Amino acid sequence: MSAQPNAPHVTRIQGWCPGALRPMPSGDGLVLRIRPQLGRLTQAQVQGIAELAECYAQPLLDLTSRANLQLRGIATQDYPVLLAGLQALDLIDTDVQSESRRNILVSPLWQPADGTPALAQALSKALGQPGAPTLPAKFGFALDCGAVPLLRGCAADIRLERHDRGVLVYANGSTRGVVASAERAIARAMELAHWFIAAGGAPDGRGRMDALVAKTTIPTELASTAVPVNTGARLPLGFIPQGCVVGFEFGQLPVDTLRTLSTLGPLRITPWRSLLVEDVQTMPALSELITHADDVRLRISACTGAPGCNQAAAPTRELAHALAPLVPLDHVLHVSGCSKGCAHPNPTLTLVATSAGFDLVQHGTAASPPDARQLSPAAVAAHLKQLAHAPHL
Ligand code: SF4
Repeated sequence: MSAQPNAPHVTRIQGWCPGALRPMPSGDGLVLRIRPQLGRLTQAQVQGIAELAECYAQPLLDLTSRANLQLRGIATQDYPVLLAGLQALDLIDTDVQSESRRNILVSPLWQPADGTPALAQALSKALGQPGAPTLPAKFGFALDCGAVPLLRGCAADIRLERHDRGVLVYANGSTRGVVASAERAIARAMELAHWFIAAGGAPDGRGRMDALVAKTTIPTELASTAVPVNTGARLPLGFIPQGCVVGFEFGQLPVDTLRTLSTLGPLRITPWRSLLVEDVQTMPALSELITHADDVRLRISACTGAPGCNQAAAPTRELAHALAPLVPLDHVLHVSGCSKGCAHPNPTLTLVATSAGFDLVQHGTAASPPDARQLSPAAVAAHLKQLAHAPHL
């Protein structure tokens, strides 16, 4: 361990997420995200994406925490033909504004009968209306209308959940919301969105609902009903009545795996970087599929790191993979390529690459003050072995 201060490493904040119509330049080419309607891809769409990725992108695809499918490493000259291919698969919005506004997360267990498709369609339409509020690029909605809410732990600004009198609509961070009929629920959600802007939630075009809720009172007509306490329900891995949920190390899946999955059934992308393969009762024995919660690969996460991200001070995933067996049960080690920590905003055991080694944060984010600085990979491993025996970790 060294007492030297952290080596300076400049990070830039991007105020938006890449889409398909607005790809983001990165260290290895363009990054593009597909936002499937209702988080679902048909078998033909999966097959088509696999073929396009094979030709025009890196052979590893990323599942994102917004239930998007990300392609990266796209050469600028290949982008138009890739986009045309995605358009032919009916995966592209009509324009950039529609794409960026359609920031809607749905429960991966949605069913037509629970009203989610109609709500999603109505919400997309409402967000595209001329009088719709101009919301921050990262502002999002969670349609969580299954039997129990699953998305409480996922980033969203306005949440809609099933209620025995209709749909509960509430602002993220609030303990109260309003119950509306399915027909009125989107209008209520838009009232909350308008209130967010009018109350100063995004003074410079950026801001999140929970920050506003923490300092401002929501109008009583939008806060008449208590939000039930979180049941803590989670989507398990493995076989469930709706099919099979499979995870992947770092949420990345090889294009060959995607092609294989396309032969099994439609896919739903979850915000936990996993896939639900609909209605299957058997799965091929592929080592890259994670189907058990105790798999050590679930104890690690890492951002893109070098060379894919041009802000990274070092590669991240190789180190995280090597350290996985040392991470204690029920903990997650995040390896970040810089102090921005964009891939893991929540506190956890964190390593941050600097130009002079890795800084270690025992419980915090990549921006937290480190507990140890400038460690070599061997020194990091030694620290983890020590921490595994520390009762306070
Ligand atoms: S946290 Fe990782 S992915 Fe994000 S900017 Fe830094 S190096 Fe890049």
